[in-house]
Amino acid sequence: MRPLRLLGDPGLRTPCEEVTEFDGSLAKLVEDMFATMYAAQGVGLAANQIGVPLRVFVYDCPDDEDVRHLGHLVNPRLVAADGVEMRGPEGCLSVPGIEAGTPRFDRAVVEGRTADGATVRVSGTGFFARCLQHECDHLDGGLYLDHLTGLRRFRALREARRAPWAERAGAAADGTAAEPVPAGA
Ligand SMILES: [Zn+2]
Repeated sequence: MRPLRLLGDPGLRTPCEEVTEFDGSLAKLVEDMFATMYAAQGVGLAANQIGVPLRVFVYDCPDDEDVRHLGHLVNPRLVAADGVEMRGPEGCLSVPGIEAGTPRFDRAVVEGRTADGATVRVSGTGFFARCLQHECDHLDGGLYLDHLTGLRRFRALREARRAPWAERAGAAADGTAAEPVPAGA
């Protein structure tokens, strides 16, 4: 288990690098990411959320039919995100305790590799499609907060600034969280 990086950590805003060595340390990274995700009761985790700037994520996530999807992806590419755009509750282990209705496509397809180098193609719908899009965003330095607009965005950023972990995480120093909130919002 490794410490989680929180909103305000510059590593969350930096695009991750492609993995080039499919070796034991990559397998160990994937193992540690699963341990960290389960300990935090998350459904997905990207490597930069534990301070490793590599294009890797893990997931153990149900879809809307309650089918469990468990796996990991190395050097993933979101090759399709389509279907209906749905707004649904979304949170992030790097923005703990905060949730916001976030628009996502209902279907997503991701291609990548496993830790031993095999090519893999993963497709998902519903909540699992949301998870795949969320994790791909992380690897490009994105956060789900970036998809929020208007009052939802103001509320989420205000909650983040006031969260007990905000000062420790330096959330105020994050470009996103530092955005001014109009009085009364
Ligand atoms: Zn996240």
